Amino acid sequence: SPALKDNGMSSFFGPDLSTALQLLGTKYNSLMKRYQEGSSRLQALEAECVTLSNKCLNECQPRYENLKEKYTLECAERKCLYNELIELKGNIRVFCRCRPLNPEEASKGYSSVLELDPSQDMELQIVCTDSSRKKFRFDHVFGPLDNQEAVFAETLPVVRSALDGYNVCIFAYGQTGTGKTYTMEGTSEDRGVNYRALGELFQSSMERCSTMKYEFSISMLEVYNEKIRDLLAENSDQHAKKLEIKQTADGTQDVPGLVEAPVNSVDEVWSMLKTGGRNRSVGSTNANELSSRSHCLVRVIIKSENMLNGHQCRSNMWLVDLAGSERVGKIEVEGERLKESQFINKSLSALGDVISALASRNPHIPYRNSKLTHLLQSSLGGDCKTLMFVQISPSTADLGETLCSLNFASRVRGIEHGPVKKQ
Ligand code: ADP
Ligand code: MG
Repeated sequence: SPALKDNGMSSFFGPDLSTALQLLGTKYNSLMKRYQEGSSRLQALEAECVTLSNKCLNECQPRYENLKEKYTLECAERKCLYNELIELKGNIRVFCRCRPLNPEEASKGYSSVLELDPSQDMELQIVCTDSSRKKFRFDHVFGPLDNQEAVFAETLPVVRSALDGYNVCIFAYGQTGTGKTYTMEGTSEDRGVNYRALGELFQSSMERCSTMKYEFSISMLEVYNEKIRDLLAENSDQHAKKLEIKQTADGTQDVPGLVEAPVNSVDEVWSMLKTGGRNRSVGSTNANELSSRSHCLVRVIIKSENMLNGHQCRSNMWLVDLAGSERVGKIEVEGERLKESQFINKSLSALGDVISALASRNPHIPYRNSKLTHLLQSSLGGDCKTLMFVQISPSTADLGETLCSLNFASRVRGIEHGPVKKQ
């Protein structure tokens, strides 16, 4: 080109510029040809890939669908089998736990009324004042030497079924000072059922992460004098706000406005429940006293999705530290305290009525007799799992209350009704 010549570039291309340009042109053309050939090879490859993948899909789709169907059937059968296994023993379990005699009781000269046979973990005997023995049978009996770990080992199956999509209720029942809070909450060195259960949920959800996706959230509430209070609400205005139970479209019960906090680790749960616990003792001079006069409920919502078949599931696990079951003397009780006691009696006997109606397969279950049973309605009965810890004191000083608790628990278990028959 004349322009190249004009700015002296000709020397760069050597003496014969037109030859150089020709060579360049040839090289360009051959490169272009190779490129175009490459493109068509690529296109051919792509077409081959598409054909192949269509072919694979066509060939494999029926097998895939077949496997998925088998998998779904397998899941359903596993659930049925599990249910049948549980049905053999019923969906209701009652465990008895007796705390150790404490140094104060020992120093006052009280002794233990509890007699355990080490070869028998379902029975206990109580030595009465006249030295006669009363025998009680439960699904398991934990003595003063059984630690939190041993207790949780027996609780584990119930917790696992929550992960499988069943609604679960775990209660601690008993006189104040018998270890209800110790069993459920525990201490920071010796954590109880609540934390161990959550720990199990987190761990199992991780183990199943290749097929299942889980989400957990926590609510915490108190039922005091038949009023529901949100213990995880941010400020005191919200604490004071009275919450109501509403029936949802799918027939289950819900408490609109209740905080549902997502949780991902046991430590998060521990600090959340500590905060909730501090919100309990409003209006009381003695925190421990108030906590024994109200029911404290922790609800864990478990949402799961099976990534293979898309099944979604939501279940509740309720962890309930009940109000103290002790009867209060008529003379010492008046005013506010009398009202409290009446509410507690009413709700505990309503709970007893519901569970014993379930255990004896009574078609009418009286859920509506208290806020407690109404709240728990969709998690009590049907294929829901119920576990009640009946906490007792070993001390001779508490003998009367201990017998009351054991009688209540026996009634709840339906033992009076004889062996439970399937309808
Ligand atoms: P509740 O909640 O029924 O009123 P707590 O859980 O507060 O009773 O227990 C009363 C006391 O007894 C607490 O100091 C608790 O640590 C202790 N305690 C209860 N159960 C046990 C146990 N199994 N082993 C050791 N200490 C216990
Ligand atoms: Mg307590």
